[in-house]
Amino acid sequence: MIRIVQSDEFTLKREEQDLHAKEREIVIDMIKQVRQHGDEAVRAFTRRFDGIDLHDFRVPFEQYEAAYQQVSPLFLEALRDAIRNIRKYHEGQLRPSTLTPMADGVLLGQLIRPLKRVGVYVPGGTAAYPSSVLMNVIPAQVAGVKEIVLVTPPDREGNISPGVLVAIHELGVKEVYRIGGAQAIAALAYGTETIRAVDKIVGPGNIYVALAKQAVFGKVGIESMAGPSDILVIADDSADPEYVAADLLSQAEHGELSQAILLTPSRTLAEQVAAQIVHQVAKLPRRAIAEAAIRNMGAIVVTKDLQEAVAIANRVAPEHLELLVRDAEEYISQIENAGAIFVGAYSSEPVGDYFCGTNHVLPTEGTARFSSPLNVDDFLKKQSLIRYSKEALMKNGRKIIEMAQVEGLEAHANAIRIRLEKEGKGE
Ligand code: NAD
Repeated sequence: MIRIVQSDEFTLKREEQDLHAKEREIVIDMIKQVRQHGDEAVRAFTRRFDGIDLHDFRVPFEQYEAAYQQVSPLFLEALRDAIRNIRKYHEGQLRPSTLTPMADGVLLGQLIRPLKRVGVYVPGGTAAYPSSVLMNVIPAQVAGVKEIVLVTPPDREGNISPGVLVAIHELGVKEVYRIGGAQAIAALAYGTETIRAVDKIVGPGNIYVALAKQAVFGKVGIESMAGPSDILVIADDSADPEYVAADLLSQAEHGELSQAILLTPSRTLAEQVAAQIVHQVAKLPRRAIAEAAIRNMGAIVVTKDLQEAVAIANRVAPEHLELLVRDAEEYISQIENAGAIFVGAYSSEPVGDYFCGTNHVLPTEGTARFSSPLNVDDFLKKQSLIRYSKEALMKNGRKIIEMAQVEGLEAHANAIRIRLEKEGKGE
């Protein structure tokens, strides 16, 4: 089912073509409709894609009450532990504003302030993601964002999954709308009659969500284009093929475009993992999705050695990278491009997805080359603070005038010249 190739035959699917040209066109038209027709368009798209006609996008209070009856005590305990772990990890990212005194009574600063209003997209559709509620909302709360607006698609009865609702309630998020897809992103970016526009949109989603976020960037901020999930495992013959196959499938089951790649110098391991995938996928409830993902986007690449595996991994820039090799720690410093690095046999990827505290919203589709996991900084902005003194301006004014004149900006030069002249320091 999964292709096994030699390293010199390996090409990434995403490098071959623009896989998303058609979806991009659809999404741009949907955003236009929401801008023009507001709630009415959101309602129509929700009817078409989610199969439900909603008068009120808000979640009825009874749904929260019912949700607590439907989740298990162990889930609630796990959720509360995860909330603690995630909060603690992200609190470690907070940094204070800085004020730097300079010569001549000058004070320069960098003030750090939370964003005011943030939209969080929690995917629904083909699965429920209470963990995404935690991963997006907690860093925003740690940053001090006051208004958090959460959107998530409803099922055909207009319900939100109980796990998602309990997570929302545990975190105290109050403004929640039952809408999803590109229509939800458009509503958050441009506002409608019932939903006020936000300053930034975060959160993962399917290809329509990711492309919509890309399209509204500029009107609002986005954290990254979190698209279809992917995983890359580097393994040697010390790795357990059952673990490797299970971890590859853990991402393949997300969606048909999810990419799962194994790089190994061991042909024996490659064949064992391929066999394990066939064996394990047969038992999965989401078998059809996982099989399609493995067939479309999956690959086992037999490399010359581990060094070549590391070089290919850096080119792929995976969202999740697992090191299942002897002395795994020694390879960490060589992994330049990866959203999250999981080291050793017991750092299976779901540990990070759910529980340990690191963020699971990670750069996908190779964007780990230039972007980072979602973090507290994504919900903060910086302001420069300048308090220049009379003494410093009298001393440096001529130089500032000169720079302005080289740029041909006479009004700039003048703003300084006027002050020098008043103090008798003009030419
Ligand atoms: P989703 O909420 O992203 O998408 C559902 C919405 O897609 C629907 O409400 C509908 O409006 C829209 N849609 C469906 N078909 C459409 C069509 N033909 N045209 C226009 N719009 C359409 O939920 P999903 O589909 O289950 O996808 C979840 C995605 O989120 C997966 O790709 C998964 O990999 C990803 N994910 C990523 C992370 C991460 O941290 N990177 C975490 C969780 C989930």
